[in-house]
Amino acid sequence: MDFQFSEEERAFRDEVREFLRRELTEDVIRAHRDHSEQGMWTASFTKSFRRKLGEAGYIGMGWPKEYGGGGASKLYQMILWDEMEYHRAPGIDRSVTYIPNAIMSFGSPAQKAEFLPRIVKGELSWFVGYSEPEAGSDLAALKCVAVEDGDDFVITGQKAFSSDAHMADYGWVAARTDAGTSKHQGISMFIVDMSLPGVHVTTQETLAGWTHHSVYFDGVRVPRSMLVGERGQGWKVVMGAIDHERAALASPGLVSMQIDRLLDFASVETDGERPIDDPVVRDRLTELAIEAEGARLIAYEVASMHVRGLSPQHETSVAVLAKRETARSLDALGLDMLGLSAPLRAGSEHALLGGDIELEYRDHLYFQFAAGGFDITRNIVAIRGLGLPR
Ligand SMILES: Cc1cc2nc3c(=O)[nH]c(=O)nc-3n(C[C@H](O)[C@H](O)[C@H](O)COP(=O)(O)OP(=O)(O)OC[C@H]3O[C@@H](n4cnc5c(N)ncnc54)[C@H](O)[C@@H]3O)c2cc1C
Repeated sequence: MDFQFSEEERAFRDEVREFLRRELTEDVIRAHRDHSEQGMWTASFTKSFRRKLGEAGYIGMGWPKEYGGGGASKLYQMILWDEMEYHRAPGIDRSVTYIPNAIMSFGSPAQKAEFLPRIVKGELSWFVGYSEPEAGSDLAALKCVAVEDGDDFVITGQKAFSSDAHMADYGWVAARTDAGTSKHQGISMFIVDMSLPGVHVTTQETLAGWTHHSVYFDGVRVPRSMLVGERGQGWKVVMGAIDHERAALASPGLVSMQIDRLLDFASVETDGERPIDDPVVRDRLTELAIEAEGARLIAYEVASMHVRGLSPQHETSVAVLAKRETARSLDALGLDMLGLSAPLRAGSEHALLGGDIELEYRDHLYFQFAAGGFDITRNIVAIRGLGLPR
């Protein structure tokens, strides 16, 4: 078994690193970092950076050539996501990962022709409208309705936790079109132009300090041509799209960055002492470095399964879980290592490591819930992976 990248893969990784170092200089970071945004960058910078990713050919590199992609293997795509996450770069999110993949899988020829060429250039931002105040983990309980009227569907309802809805050009929205014989039936998927009359976006501040959004649809007329897949068969589309989302979430750059940052910090001497010389710190760091490496290998194993023509399912959930739980442990270790300085926030002159660890500790709380969260992801591994009963 060979765990190393090939020469070509290493060259690609170096190329991406060089691109990111060139684009994300200290000056750029100072000018465009924004802790009030979920992605920690200003909305305008996220959008302009996404266009640069498009120009560089990175967005579509793993897409099939028939859709204007580069046809590269999923391994290259994982290397890209990994490096982007490590360098905390903006722009790789639902707008370029699972929305285009879902359109390729379920969209009509007209939808593919309209959206994919613009997505591959990094021109479009999307929000995902699944969750509602009473429909989170139990997504099929959603109440947003779409009523057919002539050539349109008229959508009415509320979506909650709508990441980046304030900067979205389009929404990827699940709504109930039919009663169905079970709650998983009768849901349909729509692409909603966010500039249509009746779309309203509101804002809430989160514990992490950035703003989250709710979207209200007040009798929004969406043309029938924006129905994705068949009417009433939206659950299939949602499940297919979520599989694409999990693949992107598994990228291990975050935990690699956290480990490297703590190792650097632990090796610096202050008042004659280095944290790494404390046996407890040494022990915990070693343990988590092993876990982080494990998470990295699982993520690449999932990518390599794609390369081998397999369709990873629960394996992707294992990768997401390994990465996100390790990230939470690293958040906690980071705070312990900073000692009395740990609660100092970004902007405080005494904050160590720019206050980033304190910020990330609050920010990563959402790993527990979002996109399946720890409990639901464990359920998937138990049921789909281990064959345990529901
Ligand atoms: C930062 C962030 C970004 C998000 N972005 C989006 C977005 O862009 N679009 C969107 O549509 N949604 C988004 N969400 C919503 C997210 O997907 C939901 O939070 C998630 O589905 C959980 O729903 P809930 O918050 O209502 O919690 P609940 O469903 O009420 O769950 C509460 C707790 O109970 C546990 N739980 C629930 N059911 C089960 C079960 N069957 N078995 C075991 N444990 C269970 C959950 O794991 C959780 O810990 C986002 C959420 C967050 C926090």
